[in-house]
Amino acid sequence: MLDFTSEQLERYSRHILLQDVGVEGQEKLLEGKVLIVGAGGLGCPIGLYLAAAGVGTIGIVDCDTVDISNLQRQIAHYTADIGRAKVESAKEKMLAINPGVTVRTYQEYLSAENIRAIIRDYDFVVDGTDNFPTKFLVNDACGMEGIPFSHGGILRFDGQTMTVLPGESACYRCVFREPPPPDAVPTCSQAGVLGAIAGMLGTIQAAEALKFLTGAGSLLTDTLLTFNAKNMDFRKIRLTRQKDCPLCGENPTISELSDNVRPACGLQEKSVRQACDAGH
Ligand SMILES: [Zn+2]
Repeated sequence: MLDFTSEQLERYSRHILLQDVGVEGQEKLLEGKVLIVGAGGLGCPIGLYLAAAGVGTIGIVDCDTVDISNLQRQIAHYTADIGRAKVESAKEKMLAINPGVTVRTYQEYLSAENIRAIIRDYDFVVDGTDNFPTKFLVNDACGMEGIPFSHGGILRFDGQTMTVLPGESACYRCVFREPPPPDAVPTCSQAGVLGAIAGMLGTIQAAEALKFLTGAGSLLTDTLLTFNAKNMDFRKIRLTRQKDCPLCGENPTISELSDNVRPACGLQEKSVRQACDAGH
């Protein structure tokens, strides 16, 4: 309590009032380090809420720049930001809400080469990308480094999320074995997404990060939460760790990271470029 300034006590008073958070929980948030993968539809609300909540160190990875078609849902980016790096635009808004947090930016494409070095420094990772190669890459890298993370995906009117504690709860590969073939599942840039869906799912993921850091409540582990906003149907699907999971099973076959993109026919370069362009 003595370590808090009067400004901090006021700023975080609604957390401090919560029995499950309190001064101790707020201290944990201020000491917490969370990495957000993607500064798009999910990454924007996640970043704004984590900064507002006082998560002390927040990293954001995104190689893209702001496009006018992003503004319908990527709420940290404004019209005047078109053409700017998304990580810089998001950082500016996060610090405007809360100058007391540190925002580290990585304007690069997350790959098998750089991901482990980047995530290693964080307590929790939030995946806000919209392409399967990166989702599997985040799952595999977090599994290898033992870093808990939140998976999230949105499309059209639908969202889905699960939280993974490596070595303890079902991982993304326990549920979805491997990436679908390229172009088998459309991205938001191909099939569209209702703007507020990004906020609905992103704030659920932000809440999971805050719960993980403070220890409040129970996480979405061994659980896939899905919703369809057309009829506001929310479902929880129970999951279990799979003994034959290629990453976290008894005889894992994945020991090295790959970008999960078939290299044939120059697909790798194309997919990486599309993935970067898509960005929810
Ligand atoms: Zn697994």
